[in-house]
Amino acid sequence: RMASFTTYASVRDQVNAVLALEIMGFAILLAGAFYLLNRKTAVRMALFQRESAELRDLNARLQREIAERERMQQTLAVAEQSLAQSSKLAVLGEMSAAVSHELNQPLAAMKTYLAGARLLLQRNRPDEALTAFHRIDGLIERMGAITRQLKSYASKGAEQLAPVDLAEALTSALSMMEPQLRERQVRINRVLPEGPVTVMGDRVRIEQVMVNLIRNAFDAVKSVASPEIDIILARGETAVLTVRDNGDGIEDLDALFEPFYTTKQPGEGVGLGLAISSGIVTDLGGRLTARNATGGGAVFEMQLPVLAEETRAAE
Ligand code: ADP
Repeated sequence: RMASFTTYASVRDQVNAVLALEIMGFAILLAGAFYLLNRKTAVRMALFQRESAELRDLNARLQREIAERERMQQTLAVAEQSLAQSSKLAVLGEMSAAVSHELNQPLAAMKTYLAGARLLLQRNRPDEALTAFHRIDGLIERMGAITRQLKSYASKGAEQLAPVDLAEALTSALSMMEPQLRERQVRINRVLPEGPVTVMGDRVRIEQVMVNLIRNAFDAVKSVASPEIDIILARGETAVLTVRDNGDGIEDLDALFEPFYTTKQPGEGVGLGLAISSGIVTDLGGRLTARNATGGGAVFEMQLPVLAEETRAAE
């Protein structure tokens, strides 16, 4: 049995060394943990910063876009305003062209009647002059009706429709064109059915369509050796008025009903007659069509719903 003795100090030193080592290890562990934690927060902070920078960027971009959009909206509003203004002007232009187009016919007739009346008065034939004055009176009334109708058209007021006999309307349209038709030798063949052909409509406007169709046919046969115009009225499922001429035919069927399409010389035509006429016929529930006849010349057809006997009787 051996017993060895060491000093208490050396034991304490060893214990201290072990303790110091443990403390050191613990401290290193703590420092490591701190370091890791710190790094994590730093990374997170960097991420936050990057995200907030991106957000700031996005915000700035959005603000720029909003400003841009507001500017565009202002420009658009200005453009819309000027567009509304110019479309109003265009409508006004079209309207005044239509008014002058529609008033030209009765005005030309009035001029001829007035010249005739003056001659008759000079020759001391007042009774016949009086007849001419009556006709002028009728034309003035007609012009009044056209302007009234255009006014109601502008205010989109409801129209007053009444039964109209197409045969009667045709007679009055032809009598209004009489001075013009007398200018040249044109044979006019009229084919009418027995009895009236009644449609629901506005007499002045229906006569306007007839005048426009006959006037066009009259113009189309200008350079033909033996000019002829057939006007055929028929009553079937619909009321049909056909105006056929032996002129050169229609040049451009597609553009025919477009406003301001004309092949006539300036001063002779403005290209509104057919546009207005087809508008009138469509308003009355009908159709205005055109084609070239196989034997040459143009054929215009106005179809309107025929007013049934019972309806007429009820009225
Ligand atoms: P405008 O008579 O003022 O020219 P319209 O709208 O009445 O206006 O007619 C437009 C065009 O349609 C005419 O310029 C002409 O070229 C053509 N047209 C109309 N009717 C006839 C017809 N009967 N024969 C040949 N062409 C026609």
